[in-house]
Amino acid sequence: MRIGIIGGGAAGLVCAWLLEQHHEVTLFEKDDRLGGHAHTVDIEVGGRPLGVDAGFQFFARSAGYATFNRLLDELAVPRETYPATLTVSRADGSRAVAMPPFRRGRPVWSSLTPRAIIHLARFRAFLSRLPAFLAEHDTSVTIAEYVERERLPRAFVDDFLFPLLLAFWCVDLAEFRRFAAYNALYYLGANLPRGLRPPAQSEIPGGLRGYVDALVASLERASLHTSSDVGSVTRDADGTLFVEVAGTRQAFDHVVLACDARTAHDLLAPLPELAELTAQLARFRYFDTTIAIHGDRRLMPRDRSAWSVVNVRTDASHSALSIWSPSRGIDVFKSWVTFDDELPQPLYATATYRHGLIDTEYFDAQRRLRPLQGRHGISLAGLYTADADSHESAILSAVAVAERLAPESPRLARLRG
Ligand SMILES: Cc1cc2nc3c(=O)[nH]c(=O)nc-3n(C[C@H](O)[C@H](O)[C@H](O)COP(=O)(O)OP(=O)(O)OC[C@H]3O[C@@H](n4cnc5c(N)ncnc54)[C@H](O)[C@@H]3O)c2cc1C
Repeated sequence: MRIGIIGGGAAGLVCAWLLEQHHEVTLFEKDDRLGGHAHTVDIEVGGRPLGVDAGFQFFARSAGYATFNRLLDELAVPRETYPATLTVSRADGSRAVAMPPFRRGRPVWSSLTPRAIIHLARFRAFLSRLPAFLAEHDTSVTIAEYVERERLPRAFVDDFLFPLLLAFWCVDLAEFRRFAAYNALYYLGANLPRGLRPPAQSEIPGGLRGYVDALVASLERASLHTSSDVGSVTRDADGTLFVEVAGTRQAFDHVVLACDARTAHDLLAPLPELAELTAQLARFRYFDTTIAIHGDRRLMPRDRSAWSVVNVRTDASHSALSIWSPSRGIDVFKSWVTFDDELPQPLYATATYRHGLIDTEYFDAQRRLRPLQGRHGISLAGLYTADADSHESAILSAVAVAERLAPESPRLARLRG
């Protein structure tokens, strides 16, 4: 078959990798680079070149990323492990609560106040109940309902738990309360601390570009086109599909849309036979999130001894993350700045991404899309089609496409493990 893939993020690239030995594959990516949310930006700090992952960053050698790790093994991409410490502080950097409450054997005193110790103890108890809830895979409960059900003290919920959970999403608190608890708690549940040890996370030396480049280099037959913004998908009377880029049309027997649900909806809406599919696609909502790579210490806890890899700063209505890499040994941070009035300084780079609003409707639409996949020569890939908002889902979405279009693929068998 002639297969056209729209979108060169992880889902689209892995689709190409799984399908190219069995079909004639052409991939279109609107940006001038491949990788989508797997995006390493180049900066220079004090004359030193650095690659910083501005979008997707966190993954681990854990069951939650089993397929992604198998792909990295297949591509011989090296990984290093580091402890993902966590600190929650006020927007001005005060009242920092660090987890664990010591660094290099020394106590972090701001985390040893009675208030901080009580928060930490309650948080540990809260975490211990997450695996059982996540195992149920109940995507119909909102985070507000889940927290209510847990009957937690108000001060813990308002001062600590919601600010912490909210920071991973960077939306309004009112919006976040409607998020599916399954997704809002997914990262925490998949990365539990062991005793007093923080959860281990993985990184690719030099950034995720190493993975994207290895994936692209391993493609033997697929034809890849960057700077190719697909404007429409049409079908002629014989049923042949046409993908149009800048006025040029290319014919396909099957099209895989590996872009976000909004774009997939707009491209497919003119095809009346896909009305059921586009009705579900219309239910996914997105927001733009802006990330700054900078050297502004004001976005970190005031007390340097409380600095963590993941730092949450919170005010009455918003929370945001600042990520720091202690092993780099320099003050370079990645901060979510969507709600900030001014950008941090010195500013090395900014990036804006379209991110899903992962409410209960998102999962209902995801479930209803499944039986519609592959009909009328159209497949959907992308993290929104498979489970929680994580890179593993993007890879699993490509696996699901290959299970229909190239079930005999040896690469598919290796990826499934
Ligand atoms: C800021 C941020 C941080 C994240 N952090 C993590 C994390 O730490 N851990 C984790 O597991 N996940 C994280 N994620 C989730 C992340 O989205 C997934 O991990 C994964 O990278 C998504 O891959 P994808 O291929 O589904 O989508 P994308 O990477 O979004 O790829 C879609 C591609 O389609 C292209 N496209 C869109 N429209 C068109 C068109 N008309 N024509 C051609 N091409 C088009 C886009 O340019 C893009 O390259 C994060 C997401 C964001 C936004």
